[in-house]
Order: sequence, then C-alpha cells, then structure tokens
Amino acid sequence: MDVVLAKNAGFCMGVRRAVETTLGMVQKGETAIATFGPLIHNPQVLKLLEEQGVQILTEIPAQATGTIIIRAHGIPPEEKKNLEATGAIIEDATCPRVLKVQAIIDRYKKEGFATVIIGDREHAEVEGLMGYAADTGQVVNNEADVASLRLDGPYIIVSQTTQDEYLFERLKEAILQRYPGGEVFNTICDSTHKRQEEVRQLCQEVEALIVVGGRTSANTKRLGEIAESLGCPVFMVESEMDLVRPALERYGRVGVTAGASTPNWVISRIVEVLANMTEKMPEEGKNAELV
Ligand code: SF4
Repeated sequence: MDVVLAKNAGFCMGVRRAVETTLGMVQKGETAIATFGPLIHNPQVLKLLEEQGVQILTEIPAQATGTIIIRAHGIPPEEKKNLEATGAIIEDATCPRVLKVQAIIDRYKKEGFATVIIGDREHAEVEGLMGYAADTGQVVNNEADVASLRLDGPYIIVSQTTQDEYLFERLKEAILQRYPGGEVFNTICDSTHKRQEEVRQLCQEVEALIVVGGRTSANTKRLGEIAESLGCPVFMVESEMDLVRPALERYGRVGVTAGASTPNWVISRIVEVLANMTEKMPEEGKNAELV
C-alpha cells in the first residue's frame, strides 16, 4: 500500500515543549512531579509519564511539595493562584499561543469588552480562557449558540487555538451580522492551520485517510471531521492495534496525519504496518467497516 505521511503530523510546538519540560525534570532527578490534569491528550504519552513517576492531580490539594506542572492548554487564573498557594513549585507549561489568547481576553476585559470564544465549551483550553473572560465571556460552537448570544456593548471574538478554520469563519460572520462592530482575533495557531490545510490537500490525493491520536484529543477529532466533510473515508486510530485490515486492504493509497499530541513513535508504527499491507479487492457484498 502507498502511504503518504502528512508533513505536519504529530507533536506541535506547544505539546513538545510541555512534554520536554516534564521529561527534562525527570531526567534531572527531580522527584514529586505532578501535572494538574493530563499534560496533553494522548494515552501513550501519559502512560510514559506515569512510568517515569509523574502523577496527575485531578484536584488542587490544600498543601503540596515538589513541582506541579500546568498543562499545555492552560488553566483559569483562579486555579493558578490556588496552585501557587499549595506551596509547591509551579512550572507553567501553557503553550505560548494559548498564553497569547489569555492575554488578549485579559486586556480587552479591562477595557470593558465582553468576549465571545468560538470553541468547545467543555475543552480544557476554553475552560481556561473562560476563566480570563469570567462573567463577560460566552462560548459559541454552532449557529444555535450564535442565536442565543446576548451582547449589549463592545466585544471581541477569539478562537480556541485548534478550531476548524472554516467553522470559525462561518460563525464569526454570523456573530458580526447579529452584533456588528465586534473586534475579531483569529487565534487559531499556525500548527493547527497547517495541519488542517494539509488534510484538505491530502484528501484530494489519497483514497482514505488515517488520523492518529488520542480519542479525547479534540484537534485529532477535528482533522477526522474535516476529511469526512470532504467525503474522504476516515479511520480514527490511537495505535496500530486499531488498524482493521479487511477495511483498509481495499485501498491502494492512503494518507496518514496525526493530532498535535500524537508522538512520532506511534505514527511511525502505523506507517510501517500500513506500508506492509497489500491492496485486496473487497469480497462482493461485504462493506469495509470504518473505525
Ligand atoms: S495546537 Fe497550537 S496552541 Fe495548542 S499546544 Fe499546539 S502549538 Fe500550542
């Protein structure tokens, strides 16, 4: 099988930085290292960190020792303050691109602007951003959300950094139509932009697309949704164990991309398994099952 690997598959700058920061501490022999929430959304990397003794805190303790690392997606300012009050050393691994969005919201809030975030309400990054916007913030993720927006003064529009660019454009226009005059900041990061553009291009060159990444990774899911919207058969996989041979062997040329938190070693294994598959015509009457 021919396999075309996307150039921008795998770790983005922010994720690499967060993982290297954490592993760097382990290598220096530091003990009592914990991350507040999962550092990134990838089960293989989280397992590796756990094996290295890095714990995941699900709640902020009253007191703590050692180091607590803040995840790449960032957290609300209140939570950061509470972490600092535990007495532990706080290592902030928030991605600089996310810090930039937090700073925009903070600055405009002080000037009396409300914030509209185009993103997934439940996503860790958006929860962090909402912490900066506080009671001036609203999240929209579809047209119905735009219809229920309530704004009565100056406002800004920002985006979750991993938002689908086409969705951002569409919702931004709908918001401006309802409430003209909002200041727009397209805060989708470069890495997301390149990855999504590549998926759109790749879908024209291949018969199917394999998207590698954690099931809880929103940016990975988004890559699959973009390919699907273009009519490209999509297989979402976390590891090579998820590759279903009968379903894949019907294709002669497939593309592989991966979310921003997928490590290279996982992508390489997938490419290797696919490259060793031979194209077979499906038996008549049998449909391939998409993962
Ligand atoms: S996807 Fe973009 S914003 Fe998010 S961690 Fe990676 S580089 Fe930073």
